[in-house]
Amino acid sequence: MSLEIGLQVRGVEINYYFVCKKKLWFFTHEMNMEYNSTLVEMGKEVHTSSYLRDRKEIMIDNLICLDFVEKELVVNETKLSKSMEEATRFQLMYYLYYLESKGVEGLRGVIRYPRAKKSEEIILTQKDKEVIDEVIKDIYRIKDMSSPPSAAKERKCNKCSYYEFCFC
Ligand code: SF4
Repeated sequence: MSLEIGLQVRGVEINYYFVCKKKLWFFTHEMNMEYNSTLVEMGKEVHTSSYLRDRKEIMIDNLICLDFVEKELVVNETKLSKSMEEATRFQLMYYLYYLESKGVEGLRGVIRYPRAKKSEEIILTQKDKEVIDEVIKDIYRIKDMSSPPSAAKERKCNKCSYYEFCFC
């Protein structure tokens, strides 16, 4: 297990790394616009109203907030785009990896898509762990940059809360 103390990041940073590296830079430089975002509000609404009955939220190390439903580690996703699906998958794999590094093994990860009424099981492989190690290092590299990395305008930008910073 190579997840080192000092190389820990928040789950949302893993998520943004896959959505957009420029967004990650903005977020990690105290430019948190997410409270403005209608899409984030939608996500929160799905998050808090779905599967409420057996849900337990646990904060670990003041770093990651985990949602357990029965014995499964669950992330709810509104499934807005392909890049967000990948981001959610890696965010959940990071949680599993993080817990493993603390000796918690054998957990099942599930991404639930409440609106589509379907779910996807996530199993963490050795290869995934190696990728996550590299991602964490790259997140630190991006956070250390003095200005945001460049990024081309894509469809996802239209719904991004940082749009005005990037293109206005
Ligand atoms: S507007 Fe586009 S390029 Fe800018 S932070 Fe958002 S997703 Fe990234």
